[in-house]
Parts: sequence; C-alpha cells; structure tokens
Amino acid sequence: MPRPGNILIVGNGQAGIQLVDSLRKEGHTGPITIIGEETHFPYQRPPLSKDYLAAGTDPAPLPLRAEKFFMDNDVDSRLGAHVTSINRARHTAALADGSTVGYAKLVLATGAANRVLTVPGSRLAGIHGLRTLADAETVHARLGEAKSVVVIGAGFIGLEFAAAARKRGIEVTVLEYADRPMARALSPVMSRWFAQAHRSMGTDLRLGEGIASFENDGAGHVAAAISTTGRRYPADMVLVGIGVIPRTELAEAAGLAVANGITVDTNMRTEDPDIFALGDCANYPSHHAEARTRLESVQNATDQARHTAKSILGTHDPTQGQAYKELPWFWSTQGDLRLQIAGIAQPGDETILRGDPSSGKFSVFCFRNARLTAVESLNHPADHMAARKLLARERSLSPDQAADPGFDFRAHAKEPQPA
Ligand SMILES: Cc1cc2nc3c(=O)[nH]c(=O)nc-3n(C[C@H](O)[C@H](O)[C@H](O)COP(=O)(O)OP(=O)(O)OC[C@H]3O[C@@H](n4cnc5c(N)ncnc54)[C@H](O)[C@@H]3O)c2cc1C
Repeated sequence: MPRPGNILIVGNGQAGIQLVDSLRKEGHTGPITIIGEETHFPYQRPPLSKDYLAAGTDPAPLPLRAEKFFMDNDVDSRLGAHVTSINRARHTAALADGSTVGYAKLVLATGAANRVLTVPGSRLAGIHGLRTLADAETVHARLGEAKSVVVIGAGFIGLEFAAAARKRGIEVTVLEYADRPMARALSPVMSRWFAQAHRSMGTDLRLGEGIASFENDGAGHVAAAISTTGRRYPADMVLVGIGVIPRTELAEAAGLAVANGITVDTNMRTEDPDIFALGDCANYPSHHAEARTRLESVQNATDQARHTAKSILGTHDPTQGQAYKELPWFWSTQGDLRLQIAGIAQPGDETILRGDPSSGKFSVFCFRNARLTAVESLNHPADHMAARKLLARERSLSPDQAADPGFDFRAHAKEPQPA
C-alpha cells in the first residue's frame, strides 16, 4: 500500500498542535509537517493575560504538549519558520527562507492577529498588545515598573489584564467606547455585574469613552491617554485590547474565499478539497448559532482540530453524522472571578437570572424564541457543566423552568433525552 502523503499544517498554536495529536490517534501513518513562525516551543495563550501577568518574577509559559511529543509522533516540527505563499496547483507551500514543502493535504491553522489602533500617538513606546508569549514577556517586564496603566477596550483580554494589574497594586484606568464591558459576548445583566466588580477591585472603568490620542513624554514614550471626552489619563504603560482580525492572508493570496475568516464547510474544508482551515482563522457554518460564525476560544480550536483530523482521514463515525456540531464554550478568569459561557447568545435574547448576584455566584440563561441558546455562569462550574449537557443534547429547558427557583435544572440535565 502506498504511504499516505504529507499533511502540512501552517500554525502551531492550539488548533495545529491538537490536529497533530488527533491525526495520529485517528491512524494517520504518513508524514506530518507543522510550521510555526514564533520561535517559542508551542504554548498555551490563555494564561498570558491571567496567571502569567499576576506572577512576580520569571513566570513560565505552559507548553501545549511535552517536548517529546513531536519525537514520539514522528512529526517534522519547524519553529521560527514563516509560510509566505501556497501554490495550489503544485501542492506546495513556500517558506520565507526560500524552501518549499509539498503537501497532499494542507491545513491553515494561522490564528488571528491583534487589531491595531490608528489614533495619533499609537506607535509610541510603552503601548502594547497581548497575543504572543513575546508580547507577554514584554508586558510582564513593564508591569514590574509601572505605576499607572491605561487599558484600551473592556473586552476579555483588557479586563483580565486589568484584574492582574490591580492584584499587583497598579493604578488601572479602562477606556471603553461601548456603554458596558464585554458587550459583544455577554448579556447586559452579566456585563453590568462585571462593570461593578471591576470598580470594586479599584479599576477606574470609563464606559462610553474611547481613545482619541496618546501624549508623548518628549522622548518617544507614552505619557498619557486622551479620551474622546478630552479627559487626560496619565499612563506609564498602555495595554490595547480591541479585538483581533483573522490571519487570512495566505488563503486570500491563494484565491480561497474569505469573509471574516477563511470560509469552510461543516467539515472545515475550504472550496479546495485538499485545503482545510480551523480555529481562530476559520469561518464555519455553526449549528448552534444557526449562521456562519468565527470563534476565538480553546474549545473551538481543539474540537475543530479533532473533527478536521477525521475529515481528512475519512474516519467520521457515520452514526454521529459528518458535520461539525460541537457546542461552543468559553471561560475567562478576571482576578478571582471565573466566568464560563456555554452556547452562543445573540443580542436581544431574553435573559433569566438564577441565583443571587450579590452572592457572587449565579447564572444567566439566554433564550431565543423560547429556545435555550446560552448560559453564562459566574463562579458556578456546576451550573456551567449542566448547561453544557443540556445545550449539547438540545434537551429543552423552558423559560418558565429556568425562572422557577425550585426547578432542579442540574438534575433535569442528567435525565436521559426523550426519544
Ligand atoms: C492572551 C490571550 C488569552 C486568552 N484567553 C482565553 C481563555 O481564557 N479562554 C479561551 O477559551 N480562549 C482564550 N484565548 C483564545 C485562544 O487562545 C485562541 O482562541 C486559540 O489560541 C486559537 O488557536 P489557533 O490555533 O486557532 O490560533 P493560535 O493559537 O493563535 O495559533 C496560530 C499560530 O499560527 C502562526 N502563524 C500564522 N500565520 C503563519 C504563517 N504564515 N507561517 C507560520 N506560522 C503562522 C501564528 O504565529 C500562531 O502561532 C486567549 C487568547 C489570548 C491571546
């Protein structure tokens, strides 16, 4: 039997590394090449805005796999290597060092890049983003000297960073253009609870106030942030967390469809049958959102990698169907607060509160047309796990049941699904 051809993976982050693992577990015996432009051994990103920053000296990144993983799995892993283009007709990828790598199947797991600010002064020293380990090393070192920081954007990363900085006793101001934090992802009730919680931590959270420009200290370093209301906030460091854009440049240049991510089908396949895309860079038809979507989470990257391995090798279990349908879930840790989200809510979903927000432990149930779409849980992992069971099995929970404090929804989630 001929040896299967090379599977080339561009990007050695959460999705790419899980894909290597899953390809071998699914029985691929042929060559695998994985290429990553960062020089660090593959690591986990989530701690970079949390424990890594809160730690005093010399924090260590958490590896995605043990070092011997690549040897044990007979993988050609290349660090510090940038893929510059793809030749679909020849089935090759070109690298920045002038070499080429051939493929039978190509997987784009290229992730996302931080959105950059363009207001005057955005390029001053002392203004940072946070995406890579290299970013985190710089931010951690600067935090050691900082007295006051300004955070641009009250999204997950900005608020995780703000909480870590407050733990280190640093003055923190957060400027957010929207009228509530994490507005794209959270229900108004949960989002407002977090606004209050960050203020209680001592963060000066400014809502409805964006960034207009940065002031130079005269030596090329940031001295202050000037907001859209004209207020001046002194800063010896600025953290910009205004979202990401998917890394689609290789796909676009190769003529593949791109629309807020690389367009793939429910098997993570692009319009080219030999090219797949997954994780932060991919836009897929989401069963749960009932629309095309692009997610940025560890769950999304790893579950899509497991699915992609089966799509490439043709090992899907026919009784489970071929389409990717995993339930999206996500977490964010902000200081001592642990937020977990199961499912995908949409703006305008009806929300029902369970538990007492003043206890710091409660959940928000989101419904659309009386169908449960998502559950946001604060410091309540038991609710989160039960919600994942309910949403994954599509076992219905009515708004009335959710609103009834006496209804045991965790027991309900354990009941077998009606035929
Ligand atoms: C600071 C931070 C905190 C986070 N916290 C959480 C959290 O609490 N919970 C959660 O669920 N998610 C969290 N996330 C999101 C999660 O880490 C991402 O969704 C996940 O890493 C996506 O995996 P990926 O493999 O798609 O992309 P990535 O992990 O970004 O990997 C893509 C890799 O591809 C490389 N690459 C791109 N183009 C090329 C090229 N042409 N040649 C070679 N290499 C290339 C990139 O350099 C990168 O290393 C966080 C992210 C960040 C940045």
